[in-house]
Amino acid sequence: MTDRDKNARHKARMLRKKDIIDTAIKKADQEKGLLLVLTGNGKGKSSSAFGMVARALGYGMKVGVAQFIKGRSDTGEEAFFKQQANVEWHVLGEGFTWNTQDRERDARTAEAGWEITKKMLKNPEIALVIIDELTYTIKYGYLDETQLLADIADRPPMQHVVITGRGASKALIEAADTVSELMDVKHAWRAGIKAQAGIDL
Ligand code: ATP
Ligand code: MG
Repeated sequence: MTDRDKNARHKARMLRKKDIIDTAIKKADQEKGLLLVLTGNGKGKSSSAFGMVARALGYGMKVGVAQFIKGRSDTGEEAFFKQQANVEWHVLGEGFTWNTQDRERDARTAEAGWEITKKMLKNPEIALVIIDELTYTIKYGYLDETQLLADIADRPPMQHVVITGRGASKALIEAADTVSELMDVKHAWRAGIKAQAGIDL
């Protein structure tokens, strides 16, 4: 085949592709507040959620962040986003479950955290709510899943919610519009490299 033939074939193929994509774009014409779930054992759940925070802020939208379980407050994302006028940031956990080692206290902390999260889920001015590491509060039975899902479903119709954490439950996945499972292919930590500022925290 000559180069000319190759180019003509490529053009015809791209034209057909454009047709298919344009038709699909026209068909997806609805707008609604989305529920996204980022789960799985691979790295990239929370950092993806914070990428959406940056996107939303770029449009002048208001964003609320609730961070469960991990009580530490020295992450790069917190330091950066807390300076932004349109961000409301709550660190709601007291620490890793294996550090606190106190189930009842963790449950009370989670409940108090959910009360704060609920206020954001009732506020139509907040366009995006990130609920980071929420899945663990369900897994350990700190919060009632049915009630959580009801509170999320009751939010303002155009408000987006992103939930992160490993082991998302079946009910959460069913309730969500978009679900991504991050797969752990390799992680530097297993080669003895400690968490790196700007990458891991
Ligand atoms: P990130 O915040 O980097 O997007 P994540 O939210 O997907 O990570 P978490 O389970 O919340 O993952 O864990 C956060 C921390 O643990 C980060 O420092 C991250 O690099 C690290 N981590 C994530 N996945 C793994 C893994 N599979 N093995 C070892 N460490 C991991
Ligand atoms: Mg995370």
